[in-house]
Amino acid sequence: MSKVEKYNPYQEMLQVLDLAAEKLGFSLNDYNTLRYPERELKVAVPVEMDDGTLKVYTGYRIQHCSSRGPCKGGIRFHPNVDLDEVKALSAWMTWKCAVVNIPYGGAKGGIEVDPSLLSTRELSRLTRRYTAAILPLLGPERDIPAPDVNTDARIMGWIMDTYSMFKGYAVPGVVTGKPIEIGGSLGRKEATGRGVSIVTDEIAFRAGIPLQKARIAVQGFGNVGGTASRLFYEKGYNVVAVSDVNVGLYNEKGLNIQEIEKYQKINKTLSGYTAKGVCEITNEELLCLDVDILVPAAMENQITKDIAVNIKAKVIVEGANGPTTTEADEILNEKGVIVVPDILANAGGVVVSYFEWVQNLQAIFWDEHEVYAMLKKIMIRSFDEVYGLAKESDVSLRVAAYMVALDRVVKAKKIRGIFP
Ligand code: GLU
Repeated sequence: MSKVEKYNPYQEMLQVLDLAAEKLGFSLNDYNTLRYPERELKVAVPVEMDDGTLKVYTGYRIQHCSSRGPCKGGIRFHPNVDLDEVKALSAWMTWKCAVVNIPYGGAKGGIEVDPSLLSTRELSRLTRRYTAAILPLLGPERDIPAPDVNTDARIMGWIMDTYSMFKGYAVPGVVTGKPIEIGGSLGRKEATGRGVSIVTDEIAFRAGIPLQKARIAVQGFGNVGGTASRLFYEKGYNVVAVSDVNVGLYNEKGLNIQEIEKYQKINKTLSGYTAKGVCEITNEELLCLDVDILVPAAMENQITKDIAVNIKAKVIVEGANGPTTTEADEILNEKGVIVVPDILANAGGVVVSYFEWVQNLQAIFWDEHEVYAMLKKIMIRSFDEVYGLAKESDVSLRVAAYMVALDRVVKAKKIRGIFP
């Protein structure tokens, strides 16, 4: 791939944004500011390693838009983290929060690191130093991080503690996805996967796909893909393929997800799992399987144009952020594949993050069933709005989701006006 052609997720985001603006009849003046993130912070994060050497990592926190409320979005630890990725992810958070109509703007952070190479103490030092470096941006009314790829409740606990140490008192509302013991919400860990499963039920019903007979393939077996697979399995759906970064597992008669989860917990990988009728496939083969529903729940830039031409699924539910490139999206639209876009399909995580933040601010905690019921209500309401607009305007679900989101953000911006 030449330098000019290099995949740039922020440019991909802008293309869909411009299209949605055009469909809404907006002039560039109406939304031009939303083509630029409000704040981009790049930080050097020095860490004393266990062997006494000093390593310096690069971290980012980017706030895309704060017009509708505090900025919200996860923190990713991954070797591929760079400025354009974090910029795109921050903008997707703005659209995601707007499409489900929760009172947040968008942000995202990340560190260019492979956390699997660090000890627990190194990881804690890295997290705490990074938190200190981005501290001026954070706060329950300002910017609220959460888990993303390779970060979890334990890491959110360290962020909460670091921020609170600087303040001099406990501030649970500065981060979501925390351990329950320090103010986390019931149902947050599973929320993104649960949202994906709710949206899958809705789209399958509209597309006339009987889920008890459907074949489902899920790419990614982390917090999103693993949870979605388990929930599908518990509902009796036929999950025929799953994968992690190393390998895919396929059985045309259906996989035993409970057993695979147990295996992954012990071995930290799907590699080496064996069972009757199960064969190993590549991630690329998984994406092109003859299935009814495909759930890409790994990373961005997975369904490229070369993959898109070979896709056989009728419906794609994007569990990951940005798994489909713009070129691939066009091919899928032409082929009549229905794509439920990331900003809607995987919004369950940030919806329950919102519930967690509300519980922290009010210092009152909800039962699990209250969390699930509210999540379901918001996911179905948002799905119906997007689906209805797509039909009404004769556009894809992705463009409709962006239209819903952009309209809300532009309205907020107009009411507030440009400072000074
Ligand atoms: N990282 C998740 C996402 O991409 C959750 C963000 C949040 O809860 O703030 O939606």
